[in-house]
Amino acid sequence: MSAAREKTAIFGGTFNPIHMGHLCLALEVLEKGDLDRVLFVPAGVPPWKSSNKDLASAEDRFHMVSLALEGETDLLVTDLELRRKGPSYTLDTVRILQQENPDKEFFFLLGMDAMAGIRSWYGWEELLALVPFRVMTRPDTPPGILERVLPEYGCEGNRFFCSGRPEIRRISVSPFTVSATEIRRRISEGRPVTGLVPDKVAAYIRDRGLYTHV
Ligand code: ATP
Repeated sequence: MSAAREKTAIFGGTFNPIHMGHLCLALEVLEKGDLDRVLFVPAGVPPWKSSNKDLASAEDRFHMVSLALEGETDLLVTDLELRRKGPSYTLDTVRILQQENPDKEFFFLLGMDAMAGIRSWYGWEELLALVPFRVMTRPDTPPGILERVLPEYGCEGNRFFCSGRPEIRRISVSPFTVSATEIRRRISEGRPVTGLVPDKVAAYIRDRGLYTHV
């Protein structure tokens, strides 16, 4: 009998910057027992957010994720999307990870706010057919949104089914009201972000003078 494949959640995002919400949620998802690792994938060129004038460079965002994950054995980061040219499409990222790591079973992890816009993602139908999703609840985004966004799915509690596609699961997580938008705003107003981002990330933001002009 072959050994069970390691279950890895691909956690894509802009991480502009990474915050305690991202970190605590990833740990909470692992604690729930169904996944073995969370792989953070900072977007190189985010398809929707690349024109934001407060978007830190891909290198800075990657570096902040690396600092935040120091000492965490089950939270990993990859620069996969930084090494690719053009917009960082999740569909391409998932395909590459699956092809390069046949020993791993991949899941795609995202927040409910991101899931609400899934039908506008590049190749969204192929993506939903390629990888099982894990969708985290998020304050201000009603949990019922999943039923509305994916009417073709049948639903049993937190599990969503559609013929020919892997299952989608909704994960109820602790409500973190923190967002990267709020953190950037606070920094631009000269207000502290203590406790909202890891200390090393706060120091990096300060040293590099990030987000001072929004
Ligand atoms: P911004 O405020 O700039 O939109 P963000 O805080 O949503 O940023 P992203 O880098 O866009 O951070 O998020 C990466 C992923 O983490 C997305 O799937 C997003 O839905 C999820 N996420 C971020 N913060 C939370 C939160 N507080 N609760 C649940 N999911 C979250």
